[in-house]
Amino acid sequence: MEDLDLIRENLAQIHARMKAACARANRNTNEVRLLMATKTVSATRIKLAIGLGENLIGENKVQEYTEKWEDLKDLAIERHFIGHLQTNKAKDVIKYVNCIESVDRIELVEKLDQRLQYEGKSIDMYLEVNTSGEESKSGVAPEKALALLQAIKNYDTLRVKGLMTIGLPSDDPEMVRPCFRTLVSLRDKGQQAGWLPDHCELSMGMSRDMETAIEEGSTIIRVGSAIFGNRNYAL
Ligand SMILES: *Cc1c(COP(=O)(O)O)cnc(C)c1O
Repeated sequence: MEDLDLIRENLAQIHARMKAACARANRNTNEVRLLMATKTVSATRIKLAIGLGENLIGENKVQEYTEKWEDLKDLAIERHFIGHLQTNKAKDVIKYVNCIESVDRIELVEKLDQRLQYEGKSIDMYLEVNTSGEESKSGVAPEKALALLQAIKNYDTLRVKGLMTIGLPSDDPEMVRPCFRTLVSLRDKGQQAGWLPDHCELSMGMSRDMETAIEEGSTIIRVGSAIFGNRNYAL
């Protein structure tokens, strides 16, 4: 199948899955946005998907934004950063994105703030929470998340707009669901304390577990392989 047809078919399937999950959860379809996780995907293929009506992408590496920038910079889309962010990349990432979803430690907050102050800018961010307990995953531990949210309040350059998490890598929805519930519960507590906005984004759910995430209240699902196929990291 031609690349464009494949991507079109995959996107149609994802939107159908989103719609069905929203219906089951008694939610409006427009409460959930699709972020295309575009790591390892070429600018050409990203543009095909954008041509089909998508308008939100997320990359995991600053390097990939740099490489694809010439091709993507003029598009009217929203760009997020969703990968582990090294402190020494804080300066570069703010050139490329509207929102950093993966803020998870105070050192990173300080570095971002320094740079944003220097440039006279501010940026949207989500706090990434490690709800799965997997060592390899980035994100602040749930029990430390509220203290970090409170600390971030002191930095005017960072606007906290939501929470993000990667669920447990399991095909069993009932294994993943508690991760999403942890995020929802932190959202509720953070809002009560006044550290999160009334409309708080919940970025949760990927190709494998988007239905479960939508059932639990996700407002952004981040989908890669179900749109673009399996990733080839060797490219
Ligand atoms: C790759 C990635 C995704 C998408 O994963 P798929 O399983 O390909 O849908 C979502 N979130 C993050 C943080 C990712 O790195």
